[in-house]
Amino acid sequence: MKNNVYNLTFKDWEDYFVDKGDKKFKGQQVFDWLYRKRISSFDEITNIKKEIIEMLKEEFSMRTISITKVERDVDVNKYLFSLNDNEKVEAVLMNHLYGNSLCISTQVGCNMGCKFCESGRLKKVRNLETHEMVEQILLVEEECGKRISHVVVMGIGEPFDNYDNLVKFIEIINHPKGIELGSRHITVSTCGIVPKIKEFMKLPYQVNLAISLHAPNNKIRNEIMPINKAYPIEILMNTLKEYIQTTNRRVTFEYILLDGINDNKECAMELAQLVKGMNCYINLIPYNETNNISYKRTKSENISKFYDILKKNKINVTIRREYGSKISAACGQLRSKKED
Ligand code: SAH
Repeated sequence: MKNNVYNLTFKDWEDYFVDKGDKKFKGQQVFDWLYRKRISSFDEITNIKKEIIEMLKEEFSMRTISITKVERDVDVNKYLFSLNDNEKVEAVLMNHLYGNSLCISTQVGCNMGCKFCESGRLKKVRNLETHEMVEQILLVEEECGKRISHVVVMGIGEPFDNYDNLVKFIEIINHPKGIELGSRHITVSTCGIVPKIKEFMKLPYQVNLAISLHAPNNKIRNEIMPINKAYPIEILMNTLKEYIQTTNRRVTFEYILLDGINDNKECAMELAQLVKGMNCYINLIPYNETNNISYKRTKSENISKFYDILKKNKINVTIRREYGSKISAACGQLRSKKED
């Protein structure tokens, strides 16, 4: 099978031409055509010899995914993509005051099995290739005509269960000669795959890390997130302390509030205790209810109470602003709607 142009990093492109006995400058030119001039066919390249263009055409594919559906709401667009093998994934574009942020998918389905999550209901079919992650950005920028300033890796899939493709993706979109997304504008969210967090902290990029915590103790977390049985909370927290020390960066904890499950006063106090002294902040997420799962969203007065307890304990905390609950923008909902 042909390789895809969006699988290659800047250095891969240089090496590709050097291996052919050519100049690495050619690789830099191709990178520029792909990410600055944003060509969608090799024929648009004008400053490289015909034979080389023919060689590229023979060896590489280019665009492989397409947008099959867009749902629009105030400040948010939700995209459904069709992949080469007809699988579907989603991305969500959010317009903030500070820029446009795109939430991308990393897998078709997910094997983490979080009880509250729609993506997990549909088991993992396969990992996305690096180029399929890159293409989500390119297609959305073309469709909406705006520059994406932030990328959050929080769509369908567990990014650390597709680690190598993810890292290559980050290297490509971060490169100053390409899309040039600043590493501080990239956030990766994981349910807590500890060995990969350890690898991630050694990377040379200043990418933000978010952890889907969702419970203050093993008892509750085991019930709603099976990954906790492999990497219990105390091991996760120790790893994150190591992460903060090594990288000198703040960690974000995501905490979905589920009515009657993880949202009482004791949970809030236990959570405050758990993260005390860590360089972190907590993002409280009002649960997006779905037809297929019976968890209910915590009432807003109880969300406020939970928030107040954390605040009183001097924890940095925000309540996530909601985008697109009308258009089923919660993780995996558009894809699953299609399939129901
Ligand atoms: N697998 C990664 C990234 C994808 S999920 C992770 O677990 O972090 C992105 C975030 O959306 C996670 O915090 C997840 O727990 C949350 N999420 C899933 N379903 C949700 C729902 N129905 N409402 C609100 N947040 C949800």
